[in-house]
Amino acid sequence: MKPWVVPHNRPPQARPTEMEERNARVFLDVSDPSVAMTEHAVVIAGGGPAGMMLAAELALAGIDVAVIERRRDHVLVGSRAGGFHSRTIEVLDQRGVADQFLAEGQVAQVATFGTTVLDMSDFPTRHPYSLGIWQNQIERIMAAWIAELPVDIYYASEVTGFAQDDTGVDVRLSDGEPLRARYLVGCDGGRSLIRRAAGIEFPGWDPTKSNLIAEVELTEEPPQGPRRDAAGIHGLHKMGDGKTVRVVTTEQQLRHDPEPTLGDLSEALIAVFGTDFGIHSPTWISRFTDMTRQAAAYRAGRVLLAGDAAHIHYPAGGQGISLGVQDAVNLGWKLGQVVNGTSPESLLDTYQAERHPVTARALRYTMAQGALQRSDDRIDALGEVASELVSLDVARKRLAGLISALDIHYDLGEGHPLLGRRMPDLDLATAGGPLRVFELLHEAKPVLVNLGEAGSFDIAPWADRVQLVDATYDGEWELPVLGPVSAPTAVLIRPDGHVAWVGDGTDVGLTDALARWFGTAVGPPAASKPAIKRR
Ligand SMILES: Cc1cc2nc3c(=O)[nH]c(=O)nc-3n(C[C@H](O)[C@H](O)[C@H](O)COP(=O)(O)OP(=O)(O)OC[C@H]3O[C@@H](n4cnc5c(N)ncnc54)[C@H](O)[C@@H]3O)c2cc1C
Repeated sequence: MKPWVVPHNRPPQARPTEMEERNARVFLDVSDPSVAMTEHAVVIAGGGPAGMMLAAELALAGIDVAVIERRRDHVLVGSRAGGFHSRTIEVLDQRGVADQFLAEGQVAQVATFGTTVLDMSDFPTRHPYSLGIWQNQIERIMAAWIAELPVDIYYASEVTGFAQDDTGVDVRLSDGEPLRARYLVGCDGGRSLIRRAAGIEFPGWDPTKSNLIAEVELTEEPPQGPRRDAAGIHGLHKMGDGKTVRVVTTEQQLRHDPEPTLGDLSEALIAVFGTDFGIHSPTWISRFTDMTRQAAAYRAGRVLLAGDAAHIHYPAGGQGISLGVQDAVNLGWKLGQVVNGTSPESLLDTYQAERHPVTARALRYTMAQGALQRSDDRIDALGEVASELVSLDVARKRLAGLISALDIHYDLGEGHPLLGRRMPDLDLATAGGPLRVFELLHEAKPVLVNLGEAGSFDIAPWADRVQLVDATYDGEWELPVLGPVSAPTAVLIRPDGHVAWVGDGTDVGLTDALARWFGTAVGPPAASKPAIKRR
């Protein structure tokens, strides 16, 4: 193990002592070519929300995974994102960790189109709301979670390049000899070095406006509520400590310098409010734009992308963390199965096939939402028309489904409306007592829920990787946006919570679905071993 790796049983902030580092160097002479390169099955570049979620998913799949993070530790300077939406809470709930985020955040109806809030409290989910929680809190909670999992984190280290061959990837680091991995995943943010080094195109739209975001103190009271003008949106918001103020303001002209100054912020505030409110003592100033781009490919051989490395957009609408976390949850189990030999590499192609269109749709929403933040007579008129439209129930639900990501439908073919959609977190009755569906997903293992006659399924050839649960459920089946759907007799649920097969009283298609998603059967051929016991 490298001298500066934080092993999985240590909290991420506990870096090795100097003596530990010295001792490690004595035993691991990095100049000796006979010393084997450190290997991990998967190396993740970047330990932000997407990288940490992916690390957790791979660790749950039993994969040897390492994260390379250039920060000294998980601490994020500045608050950055303000939270995430319903499906992301559900995804965390599927892993049994949502409560920690809910305990620190504040639930609210904040899914918005233009200035109209799209109340989703009638959606059939345990979490019919968004969660307000700062990104530095999110990352702290995630880091504590993955510290409990077998994940190696190399802090204060930067991926500087890589070379891939037929069997793996040599990952070059800023501060040591390379790591060898079977796969490398770039979760290294919007300016992703991995994406650029892989030669993956990043088509999209150039920026039209820039914003400054900062945490400062003021000598004057900030104004109440946001202000909109022809440039965009501006707001000053007191943070929890009562003295720090989070400022977000749109600049009068598009600017690109990633390191803005207090003077830039002062100038931008004066242009809007006629005063800079006496800003001083900044702890964080950053600039972002509405540049919107999406990677043309999410994979180049043994190198994959997830999160902002694969797509960037204006933060209006709060989609970034949700998209990255859901990329990770879609990719994690698939990559795990490819690495452990359960599935062929072609399973990885379904990652882009499923996630690219979902994200393209979300990016389109952020572009529309960003445009509606500007205010002039025509944009205000457009906003009013949009507001009238989204007051119609069908439009409200459609857009709230998109923003919350509760409506995601991966194209898994024709069939029952549940196919390819998220499995609802139903209250099941089992021989062992009551059980929530999401509890069955805590270990990120697929599950066949038999809601028909107990004992009627035999999936012995997949028993080592697919759980089988006999259960009953008497309630309604209702999906967000779609409404009520007919009750199935069985559902095969993937580790990401999406339904891979729906039973209608027969086992038609089940063995194909099991083989497609969870590898070919072990033992006697599936054809001679029916998935459903004939009676
Ligand atoms: C002002 C603002 C407000 C936002 N509000 C919201 C919101 O309310 N809701 C929401 O969902 N999203 C929001 N976002 C977007 C959200 O912050 C991002 O989408 C999210 O952080 C992306 O996560 P990520 O893990 O993909 O990338 P990042 O968070 O960018 O993480 C990438 C990590 O990789 C590390 N890294 C980079 N290069 C290397 C390298 N070569 N080697 C090793 N490590 C490397 C970085 O240090 C970083 O930790 C907001 C963004 C901004 C700027």
